[in-house]
Amino acid sequence: MSKPETSAAAANFLRPIVQADLEAGKHAKIITRFPPEPNGYLHIGHAKSICLNFGLAKEFGGECNLRFDDTNPAKEDQEYIDAIKADVEWLGFQWAGEERYASNYFDQLYDWAVHLIKAGKAYVCDLSPDEARAYRGNLTEAGKNSPFRERNVEENLDLFARMKAGEFPDGARALRAKIDMASPNMNLRDPILYRIRHAHHHQTGDKWCIYPSYDFTHGQSDAIEGVTHSICTLEFEDHRPLYEWFLANLPVPAQPRQYEFARLNLNYTITSKRKLKQLVDEGHVNGWDDPRMSTLSGYRRRGYTPGSIRHFCDLIGVNRAGGLVDIGMLEFAIREDLDANAARAMCVLKPLKVVITNYPEGQVENLELPRHPKQDMGVRVLPFSREIFIDASDFEEVPPAGYKRLIPGGEVRLRGSYVIRADEAIKDAEGNIVELRCSYDENTLGKNPEGRKVKGVIHWVPAAESVECEVRLYDRLFRSASPEKADEEGGSFLDNINPESLVVLKGCRAEPSLANAQPEERFQFEREGYFCADSKDSQPGAPVFNRTVTLRDSWGA
Ligand code: ATP
Ligand code: MG
Repeated sequence: MSKPETSAAAANFLRPIVQADLEAGKHAKIITRFPPEPNGYLHIGHAKSICLNFGLAKEFGGECNLRFDDTNPAKEDQEYIDAIKADVEWLGFQWAGEERYASNYFDQLYDWAVHLIKAGKAYVCDLSPDEARAYRGNLTEAGKNSPFRERNVEENLDLFARMKAGEFPDGARALRAKIDMASPNMNLRDPILYRIRHAHHHQTGDKWCIYPSYDFTHGQSDAIEGVTHSICTLEFEDHRPLYEWFLANLPVPAQPRQYEFARLNLNYTITSKRKLKQLVDEGHVNGWDDPRMSTLSGYRRRGYTPGSIRHFCDLIGVNRAGGLVDIGMLEFAIREDLDANAARAMCVLKPLKVVITNYPEGQVENLELPRHPKQDMGVRVLPFSREIFIDASDFEEVPPAGYKRLIPGGEVRLRGSYVIRADEAIKDAEGNIVELRCSYDENTLGKNPEGRKVKGVIHWVPAAESVECEVRLYDRLFRSASPEKADEEGGSFLDNINPESLVVLKGCRAEPSLANAQPEERFQFEREGYFCADSKDSQPGAPVFNRTVTLRDSWGA
């Protein structure tokens, strides 16, 4: 699908930086990386980082690596690795070469840790995690030196080798950099380089029982890969001095530079992997790809296009200021895309049978309707005969003011077909309308009746040839614009789940052309919204449709 072009991209402060570096000859080619930890599925916040890293590389003829930041085996899983790769590709990006793993560099990182020990810049510390915390001080108080800080090089080398050999239990010792326990930057107060963790790793198996910290891994991995611009979110700004300390104190093959940008925060949306996992694990949603999730696989199943998500990322721009982005912008991007590119079709969500009493029995007219009002996408055929379905809400015996649809004795146009008049409503014993008797005007096909104005146009499907389907009306998962505020106020973000975020309608009737909708095929159901065939549950002859987004924003500003 083509990318919508109608709204302009916002600024990206990194673009001129990269451009200037290239012009100054600082780098012949730029290399960026996208470094997810495989402990969850990618969400819309990651999309911003992906579009930024892959986008810059593409724009400036460089390369972007996909590197799994896999230093915490306890929380990581192959399922997440597979999902992340699929999502990046779906979004339209291709990483350079094979995917990479920080764990590929564990041998090198170990050697570099030994290098720091030999240089007197790292030591094995026996403080327990609680003691270490107490020694660290806080923002207003300097930390205290660990009693193990002055261990000699030989002892440190011996202990570190024995940590690696598995002689000590988890948490018994750690390798720390010897920097400055009084630094105003907490990250420089002798940060941990290696922890003991007897855990099986999805890539390295049982080779290691010590694992490097994020900080000791990230910059060196960048250097090994020749990354030129290492772009991360603002909470790592305070880590930059440490990032640079490692690059300055190790014989690394390159000097990458770290830049920070503001993470994406979207209202009505959660983008914490931990909380997304909680939604899945506790069954508040049906898996990571539930169409209400802010995951890329959720948006995909919901019917979002990769182009619309890329366009959204262009619209929000990249800066250091942050702020909350209105989810209306994301919905705008998908509406714009689907309006331009999704085929039109009719689907009746709450069917009410209509018998057109003056239409000859047995007669069928195959009406052709364009699949798209502007694009040439061909036509679809709707057989018109005596019995059709309309939506129950398109007939009112006591119409509210301004009602332009069918009322007793009133007329309405059937989309792409004739004008009909409601003559009689048939009711069951409880007074529910179960059928309408109407008459049609044979002179109104494709033209207005002479001298009469018929304002309303409603959608319909043929009774016999339409296909029964299930329609899942998805809405925002949270009814509060800041769902996480509840967590700060002693409640839980779960309290803000919108109980109407999923309404399942069975027994809906879709026009015949929808019977064999392909998984993920997208449509505008006229007057109802944008929908796509569910990638898991939709079957030929028994389609299931997910509502991607309503036709208009119904949440109001
Ligand atoms: P966690 O919740 O586990 O801390 P994370 O959000 O840091 O996860 P990673 O998998 O480490 O997730 O993220 C990979 C990359 O995506 C990082 O470079 C991170 O900065 C970026 N990223 C994550 N969330 C956002 C966000 N909301 N906006 C922009 N970039 C993000
Ligand atoms: Mg992270």
